Amino acid sequence: MRSSRIEVSGVLVSTDHYIDGQRVSSSETFELLSPIDQQVLGNISEGLDEHVEAAIRSANSAFPSWSSMSAADRKVYLDRFADEIGKRSDEFCRVESTDAGLLLSRMRHGVVPRAMLNIRWFAEHALDLQNRPIETEQAHHRVRHDPAGVVVIITPWNSPLLLSTWKLGPALAAGNTCIVKPPEWAPLTCSLLADAADAAGLPQGVLNIVQGTGGKTGAKLVSDPRIARVSFTGSVPTAKWIAQAAGANLVPCSLELGGKSPFIVLEDADLDGAAATGALMYRNAGQVCLAGTRFLVHERVAEAFVARMREHVKQLAIGDPRDESTEVGPIIHPRQIERVEGFVQRAVAAGAELLWGGSRHPFGAQYFQPTMLTNVKQGDEIVQNEVFGPVLTLQTFADDSEAIELANGTDYGLGGVCYGETAHATDVAERVRTGFIWVNSFGIRDLNAPFGGIKRSGIGREGGDWSFEFFCDVKDVVVPKKPFRASFSHR
Ligand code: NAD
Repeated sequence: MRSSRIEVSGVLVSTDHYIDGQRVSSSETFELLSPIDQQVLGNISEGLDEHVEAAIRSANSAFPSWSSMSAADRKVYLDRFADEIGKRSDEFCRVESTDAGLLLSRMRHGVVPRAMLNIRWFAEHALDLQNRPIETEQAHHRVRHDPAGVVVIITPWNSPLLLSTWKLGPALAAGNTCIVKPPEWAPLTCSLLADAADAAGLPQGVLNIVQGTGGKTGAKLVSDPRIARVSFTGSVPTAKWIAQAAGANLVPCSLELGGKSPFIVLEDADLDGAAATGALMYRNAGQVCLAGTRFLVHERVAEAFVARMREHVKQLAIGDPRDESTEVGPIIHPRQIERVEGFVQRAVAAGAELLWGGSRHPFGAQYFQPTMLTNVKQGDEIVQNEVFGPVLTLQTFADDSEAIELANGTDYGLGGVCYGETAHATDVAERVRTGFIWVNSFGIRDLNAPFGGIKRSGIGREGGDWSFEFFCDVKDVVVPKKPFRASFSHR
């Protein structure tokens, strides 16, 4: 079929699927808007049943040879894949900035280097994955990590390149074949990933990209009994749906979901440091799952902290994400900014007080002012539910136990931040129930470390060995050290 390409910020991007090493267009498309100015970027091929079927067949056919290749041989391909991402760095930056509204500067210095590392690091670490020995008196246990099969990867719009490669790296390195369903509000960098994979010579069918909306294409993919794993990042309602659909076939899912993470400022905190980090919570216009969005500040330092943070927030450069000096960009879609606005209006109507922000920003229709609400109660919607926009709340506490109670008082349990004297802050951090928490810092992530949430923030861990545990079938091959004599009394 004809390949269609659109020009986005000077880069030609295919709007077609990538199935079995070929570009495939669809008779149905969906319209893609830029969050910056709501310009139509193009019409994207929608994944129909026939495309899902073709991708699953292709990934299944590619599996025997890709999975039986040595990890070292796969690493050769995957290093080339990372190289090809690197060669297209500027294209990835420009396209994701226009398509998803991510800051160009962050794409250049953070996301693209990390995307390359996601592929390289897991390819390297897969080399010693097989045959981890356990020696006992009785036997040699050769614990194998065998690739599971066809992996479906579903990602959200708030960081499509980073999140797709975070899952693709370990899944491919371990010997699985993959089908990625990119987010419909920002699918274009996944399309560029297909170009990079193609140029790297990845065997056909090893990586397939099927675009489409969640309820149609995504739902069809995750319900198919021929798939072996679903790795999903997104919202809680979608995760519940996916878990049921995949669960019907007993297909394991890794679910990385939303958050309502606490940002705790203890009485002995460095208030300037905490306030500067606090302003970072507006990065990506607050569309960051791991942001600390509930500020819990000791009552004796609350006023001083608010004054300092207000100064940092005033200085934030709000504007076009393609401008290297911008610090806060747009909200992805008209539906999302309406949602954000609705949260703020309902909170104010319920008695919350605005410390700053509260409405749309004059820069453009898709921009919302960095906002902080106080005079909120623990049971309020604004405290309990994820806004996924530049909207934070502030509550005060009198002592550590109250801080911890407030921190733990939502259904979410993704991350957290705790500022205070290091030993004190570490002690408090250890008592907060989340998947991870940063002490006197924010956003430090290492590929060796586990990542994921508890409670409604997710099921499972990815990162380091945890990724391999998920994407592999673990098998214990037991070889006795002495000749084995069969006996009914033998345990
Ligand atoms: P979403 O759940 O609406 O969509 C995520 C993806 O799921 C999209 O690709 C969508 O097309 C697909 N999808 C939707 N319905 C589906 C279905 N029935 N079957 C299969 N796929 C389906 O989430 P979103 O609004 O795109 O993203 C924002 C959410 O993602 C927030 O809750 C945020 O906290 C979360 N998130 C979590 C992490 C993390 O690592 N924990 C990282 C980033 C974002």
